[in-house]
Amino acid sequence: MAAMQRLLRAAASGGAATAAARRRMGSLAAEQAPPAAAAPKGLPFAAERNVQWVFLGCPGVGKGTYASRLSRLLGVPHIATGNLVRDELASTGPLAAQLAEIVNQGKLVSDEIIINLLSKRLKKGEDRGESGFILDGFPRTVKQAEILDGVTDIDMVVNLKLREDVLVEKCLGRRICSQCGKNFNVACIDVKGENGLPAIYMAPLLPPNNCMSKMITRADDTEEVVRNRLRIYNDMSQPVEGFYREQGKLLEFDLPGGIPESWPKLLHVLNLEDQEELKLAAA
Ligand code: AMP
Repeated sequence: MAAMQRLLRAAASGGAATAAARRRMGSLAAEQAPPAAAAPKGLPFAAERNVQWVFLGCPGVGKGTYASRLSRLLGVPHIATGNLVRDELASTGPLAAQLAEIVNQGKLVSDEIIINLLSKRLKKGEDRGESGFILDGFPRTVKQAEILDGVTDIDMVVNLKLREDVLVEKCLGRRICSQCGKNFNVACIDVKGENGLPAIYMAPLLPPNNCMSKMITRADDTEEVVRNRLRIYNDMSQPVEGFYREQGKLLEFDLPGGIPESWPKLLHVLNLEDQEELKLAAA
């Protein structure tokens, strides 16, 4: 983790060629001593350390929901660069005003800024003794994927997929509790199958009573900005899927519905059903 954090910073500032960084990363796995959480069958996996996974997918697909559930199950941090950006926005730091303009239009922030935020987050994690990670929202460009590839080995990339009309509805229904930070969704998605697209039902994910009066909507979850974010995803981030597909690391996952249908199926394809049973038994 320490090496990754240092080298990401170097890559962001343009000072370290990724090939050289990659050579120096030979020792990263050795730095990360704790045992593996799980090994998806048939997927590349480094058994001597905690998982290093990436979640890809359009805005609103549920990367945060499933990445955070898996991070709790596997005991690795869920690192969402969107959350790092929002934390920075909420601060009085020098970047806040600059970021607000970019994020509120649904544009991507620069690689340099995002990698600096990620490096800082990794440093904090290192100080807390974290190892492994599930990245959500990073990498979002092929350049970011190359930088990441230059500094560490990603074991697997989960690509969550959902039809676009549902993505827009989901983003517009998204709510966050301003106090506890949990995500909810007030949209009840019930679309018929048509033109080769599957029917989808997703029940709303409503907040408990104590969160109800504290619900806020993300400034970038308006219809205009969501459509812009989807366009940017298709232009800038979809090529990242191809980048990992070529490496044989991409696991495509079509969400069959809401959490009750999707979570067990995701655990099944990740070969993690036993892991959840163990965790439930220990709870
Ligand atoms: P998200 O919560 O993942 O939808 O991210 C919210 C916003 O943060 C995005 O629309 C971007 O403006 C910014 N952002 C998050 N991750 C990245 C990234 N890897 N590269 C560039 N911008 C990012």
